[in-house]
Amino acid sequence: MRITEKAKNAALQTAIGQGLHYLEKDPETNIPKLMHLIDKLTPDDWYRAQRDAFRNVIESKNHWYDLILKVYDLDAGVRQTFFQNFIMNAALLGSATQEEVSEREDCNVPWAILLDPTSACNMHCIGCWAAEYGNRLNLTFDELDSIVTQGKALGTHMYIFTGGEPLVRKKDVIALCEKHSDCEFLSFTNGTLIDEAFCQDMLRVKNFVPAISLEGFAEANDSRRGEGTFEKVKAAMALLKSHKLPFGISTCYTSKNYNDICSEAFYDMIIEAGALFVWFFHYMPVGSGAVPELLPTPEQRAEVYHRIRNFRQSKPIFAMDFQNDGQYVGGCIAGGRR
Ligand code: SF4
Repeated sequence: MRITEKAKNAALQTAIGQGLHYLEKDPETNIPKLMHLIDKLTPDDWYRAQRDAFRNVIESKNHWYDLILKVYDLDAGVRQTFFQNFIMNAALLGSATQEEVSEREDCNVPWAILLDPTSACNMHCIGCWAAEYGNRLNLTFDELDSIVTQGKALGTHMYIFTGGEPLVRKKDVIALCEKHSDCEFLSFTNGTLIDEAFCQDMLRVKNFVPAISLEGFAEANDSRRGEGTFEKVKAAMALLKSHKLPFGISTCYTSKNYNDICSEAFYDMIIEAGALFVWFFHYMPVGSGAVPELLPTPEQRAEVYHRIRNFRQSKPIFAMDFQNDGQYVGGCIAGGRR
């Protein structure tokens, strides 16, 4: 990394660090003053588009502003750890190291690393492709630890668990979060193993965020994921909310549930439940147990695409459309993009 880039990065870290510290005292009063502080600490032409976008959110007090206020409702320790690990370590410090390694080794360095602690799961959803890999594959704690240790040497501080059901291994998952307290961990999970003890663990380690699978309301959700699952997920969301813990929703849309999951009622339900983000994936028929009829048609995919973009204009939730948002991150993040 060039010296000027290093200096710019260091100045930006200082500005963001001071800004976040300032916001902790009284976010409602201090958010409007934040841009003034950032303007004072950094030259005008740095990150102009991002600063203008942020200024617009603050001035119009729109739905993104509401989302920011929701973040300030979270447990303070969890929020501060998220800012440190996600913004400072993963985005700023991490990307500087990644660029250095990338130049030196002439290869892409991933911004986030996905890992499956296990292929085992406590559920049996119809058409689950994870089950194709069997349910007995496990990474040992030492292997998980080695992946994160090696990743940090490359500058990667963001880790995403998939599976199987990662929380089948919740003891090891929490131990990993505890050991690598400078990283942020996000886990896709069916949510059924989130209980009071696990919430206490999350409050202790502060760097674990679940993305709970939900595929619509009770009928649509339970028809693929099993009777009673919707109620269990609702209970998990209520528990997380009561502890002021952050979480999001991961939703797989099919030809059967696409209408449910991109309805205003579904958005409002997950926002009310406390979700801060929602991640959309469309069903992919993979393996011998695949159910090709569940694959959404091109028209259904187009409908979901447009509705997600519409709700982005008004709903206080960060919605990501996995198959259709490549334009915002420059393509596949595995190729070293952000
Ligand atoms: S919860 Fe996830 S991993 Fe488990 S069976 Fe359902 S889709 Fe597959």
